[in-house]
Amino acid sequence: MLMTDLIAKKRDGGELSGDEIRFMIDGYVRGKIADYQMSAMCMAILFRGMTDRETLDLTMAMMHSGEVVDLSGIEGIKADKHSTGGVGDKTSLMLCPMVAACGLRIAKMSGRGLGHTGGTLDKLESFPGYNISIGEKRFIENVNRIGIALIGQTADIVPADKKLYALRDVTGTVPSIPLIVSSIMSKKLASGADVIVLDVKCGSGAFMKTEEQARELARGLTRIGRLAGKKCAAVITDMDQPLGCAVGNALEVKEAISVLRGETGGDLLELCLTLGSCILTEAGIAKDSNEARKMLQETIDSGAALKKLSELVEAQDGSARDVYDTARLPLAPVQLEVPSDTSGYLSHIECEKVGLISMHLGGGRVTKESEIDLSVGLVLKKKVGDHVEKGESLGTIHAATMEKAQEAADLLRACCSFADTPVERPTLIKAII
Ligand code: URA
Repeated sequence: MLMTDLIAKKRDGGELSGDEIRFMIDGYVRGKIADYQMSAMCMAILFRGMTDRETLDLTMAMMHSGEVVDLSGIEGIKADKHSTGGVGDKTSLMLCPMVAACGLRIAKMSGRGLGHTGGTLDKLESFPGYNISIGEKRFIENVNRIGIALIGQTADIVPADKKLYALRDVTGTVPSIPLIVSSIMSKKLASGADVIVLDVKCGSGAFMKTEEQARELARGLTRIGRLAGKKCAAVITDMDQPLGCAVGNALEVKEAISVLRGETGGDLLELCLTLGSCILTEAGIAKDSNEARKMLQETIDSGAALKKLSELVEAQDGSARDVYDTARLPLAPVQLEVPSDTSGYLSHIECEKVGLISMHLGGGRVTKESEIDLSVGLVLKKKVGDHVEKGESLGTIHAATMEKAQEAADLLRACCSFADTPVERPTLIKAII
């Protein structure tokens, strides 16, 4: 078999066989197929697309390029959740303990933030001592003992995606639905869960800018999940403004804890109830979404979800006290309010730019190796649809220095647009697939 023939076949709109796809992925991971040939193939896939069968074969070939986690040592139904990434998305910090408190098992591998989007691992490391690399044995033991473990993806999981994603990033081939589906689902399938719920973000702060693109991606992801024998659902959610109010690692942890304490509701709680009810109904733990939402709400009202988070932190070498006393979490030395220089209805927040403000304050990585400052970021006081008086605060910047805080304040003001007449609040949950 020759890679040049496969490239030409896809270029001309042909359908690659399972053997051809396995040959290509295996050869690429072993270094026998060059980056320039794989780039040409990715571009051909971007223009010609793939059938469901090809996408499934690609996903499986990628999944088997490395280690597949064996969760058979864990009793009960294992659930996982994946978000396509956004700004202020701290959902896993609440949803995972809520679902685990309902009796499901959460054995989850998460990622770090990159660019303007945050990552669950960085957020969890705001708990001093939290260990994201506890090893497979402790990972399984913890899930069996307390129902939850959240760790970093090991280097051996889906090496094909690591290579391919870096290549796609620099060859203009990221926005191809079959390539995105196989990238996400190979990692999810390799992580071994029985039930997978996907939060497909849509809007200016997301990867999929339009609802139509997000629907196509959601359909692709769920189709492949089900063909692979998993219970799978996707929810399309708004990312035209940050989720919740906090953006930045420790700040987001504090906001998540306030939801688990029952002090904060709004879009964050609604998203957790929606994603959680998909998991509970797909797992057969609840008969319908009404029952599921009640069970999930009860984990907050009873304190069970907060307790589950404290057990998670303690089991991964942090201290449960930090969950109950958030003053112990990292705090930036400077806090600066950002008064609005206009009156009106907040009509738009440039979501991606808000993520970049946090990144430039030191809360995100400019390169994969950058050290991040867990304490910095911002907390919005106004969301789209709110009325703002001139001089009223749009939000608070948390920074290492006053100079950085002032720069960030100017940037935040520039991210906000206003209208004279009332503005409709964006719908958070756009569709459930
Ligand atoms: N997230 C992934 O893991 N892969 C993609 O291709 C896009 C988003």
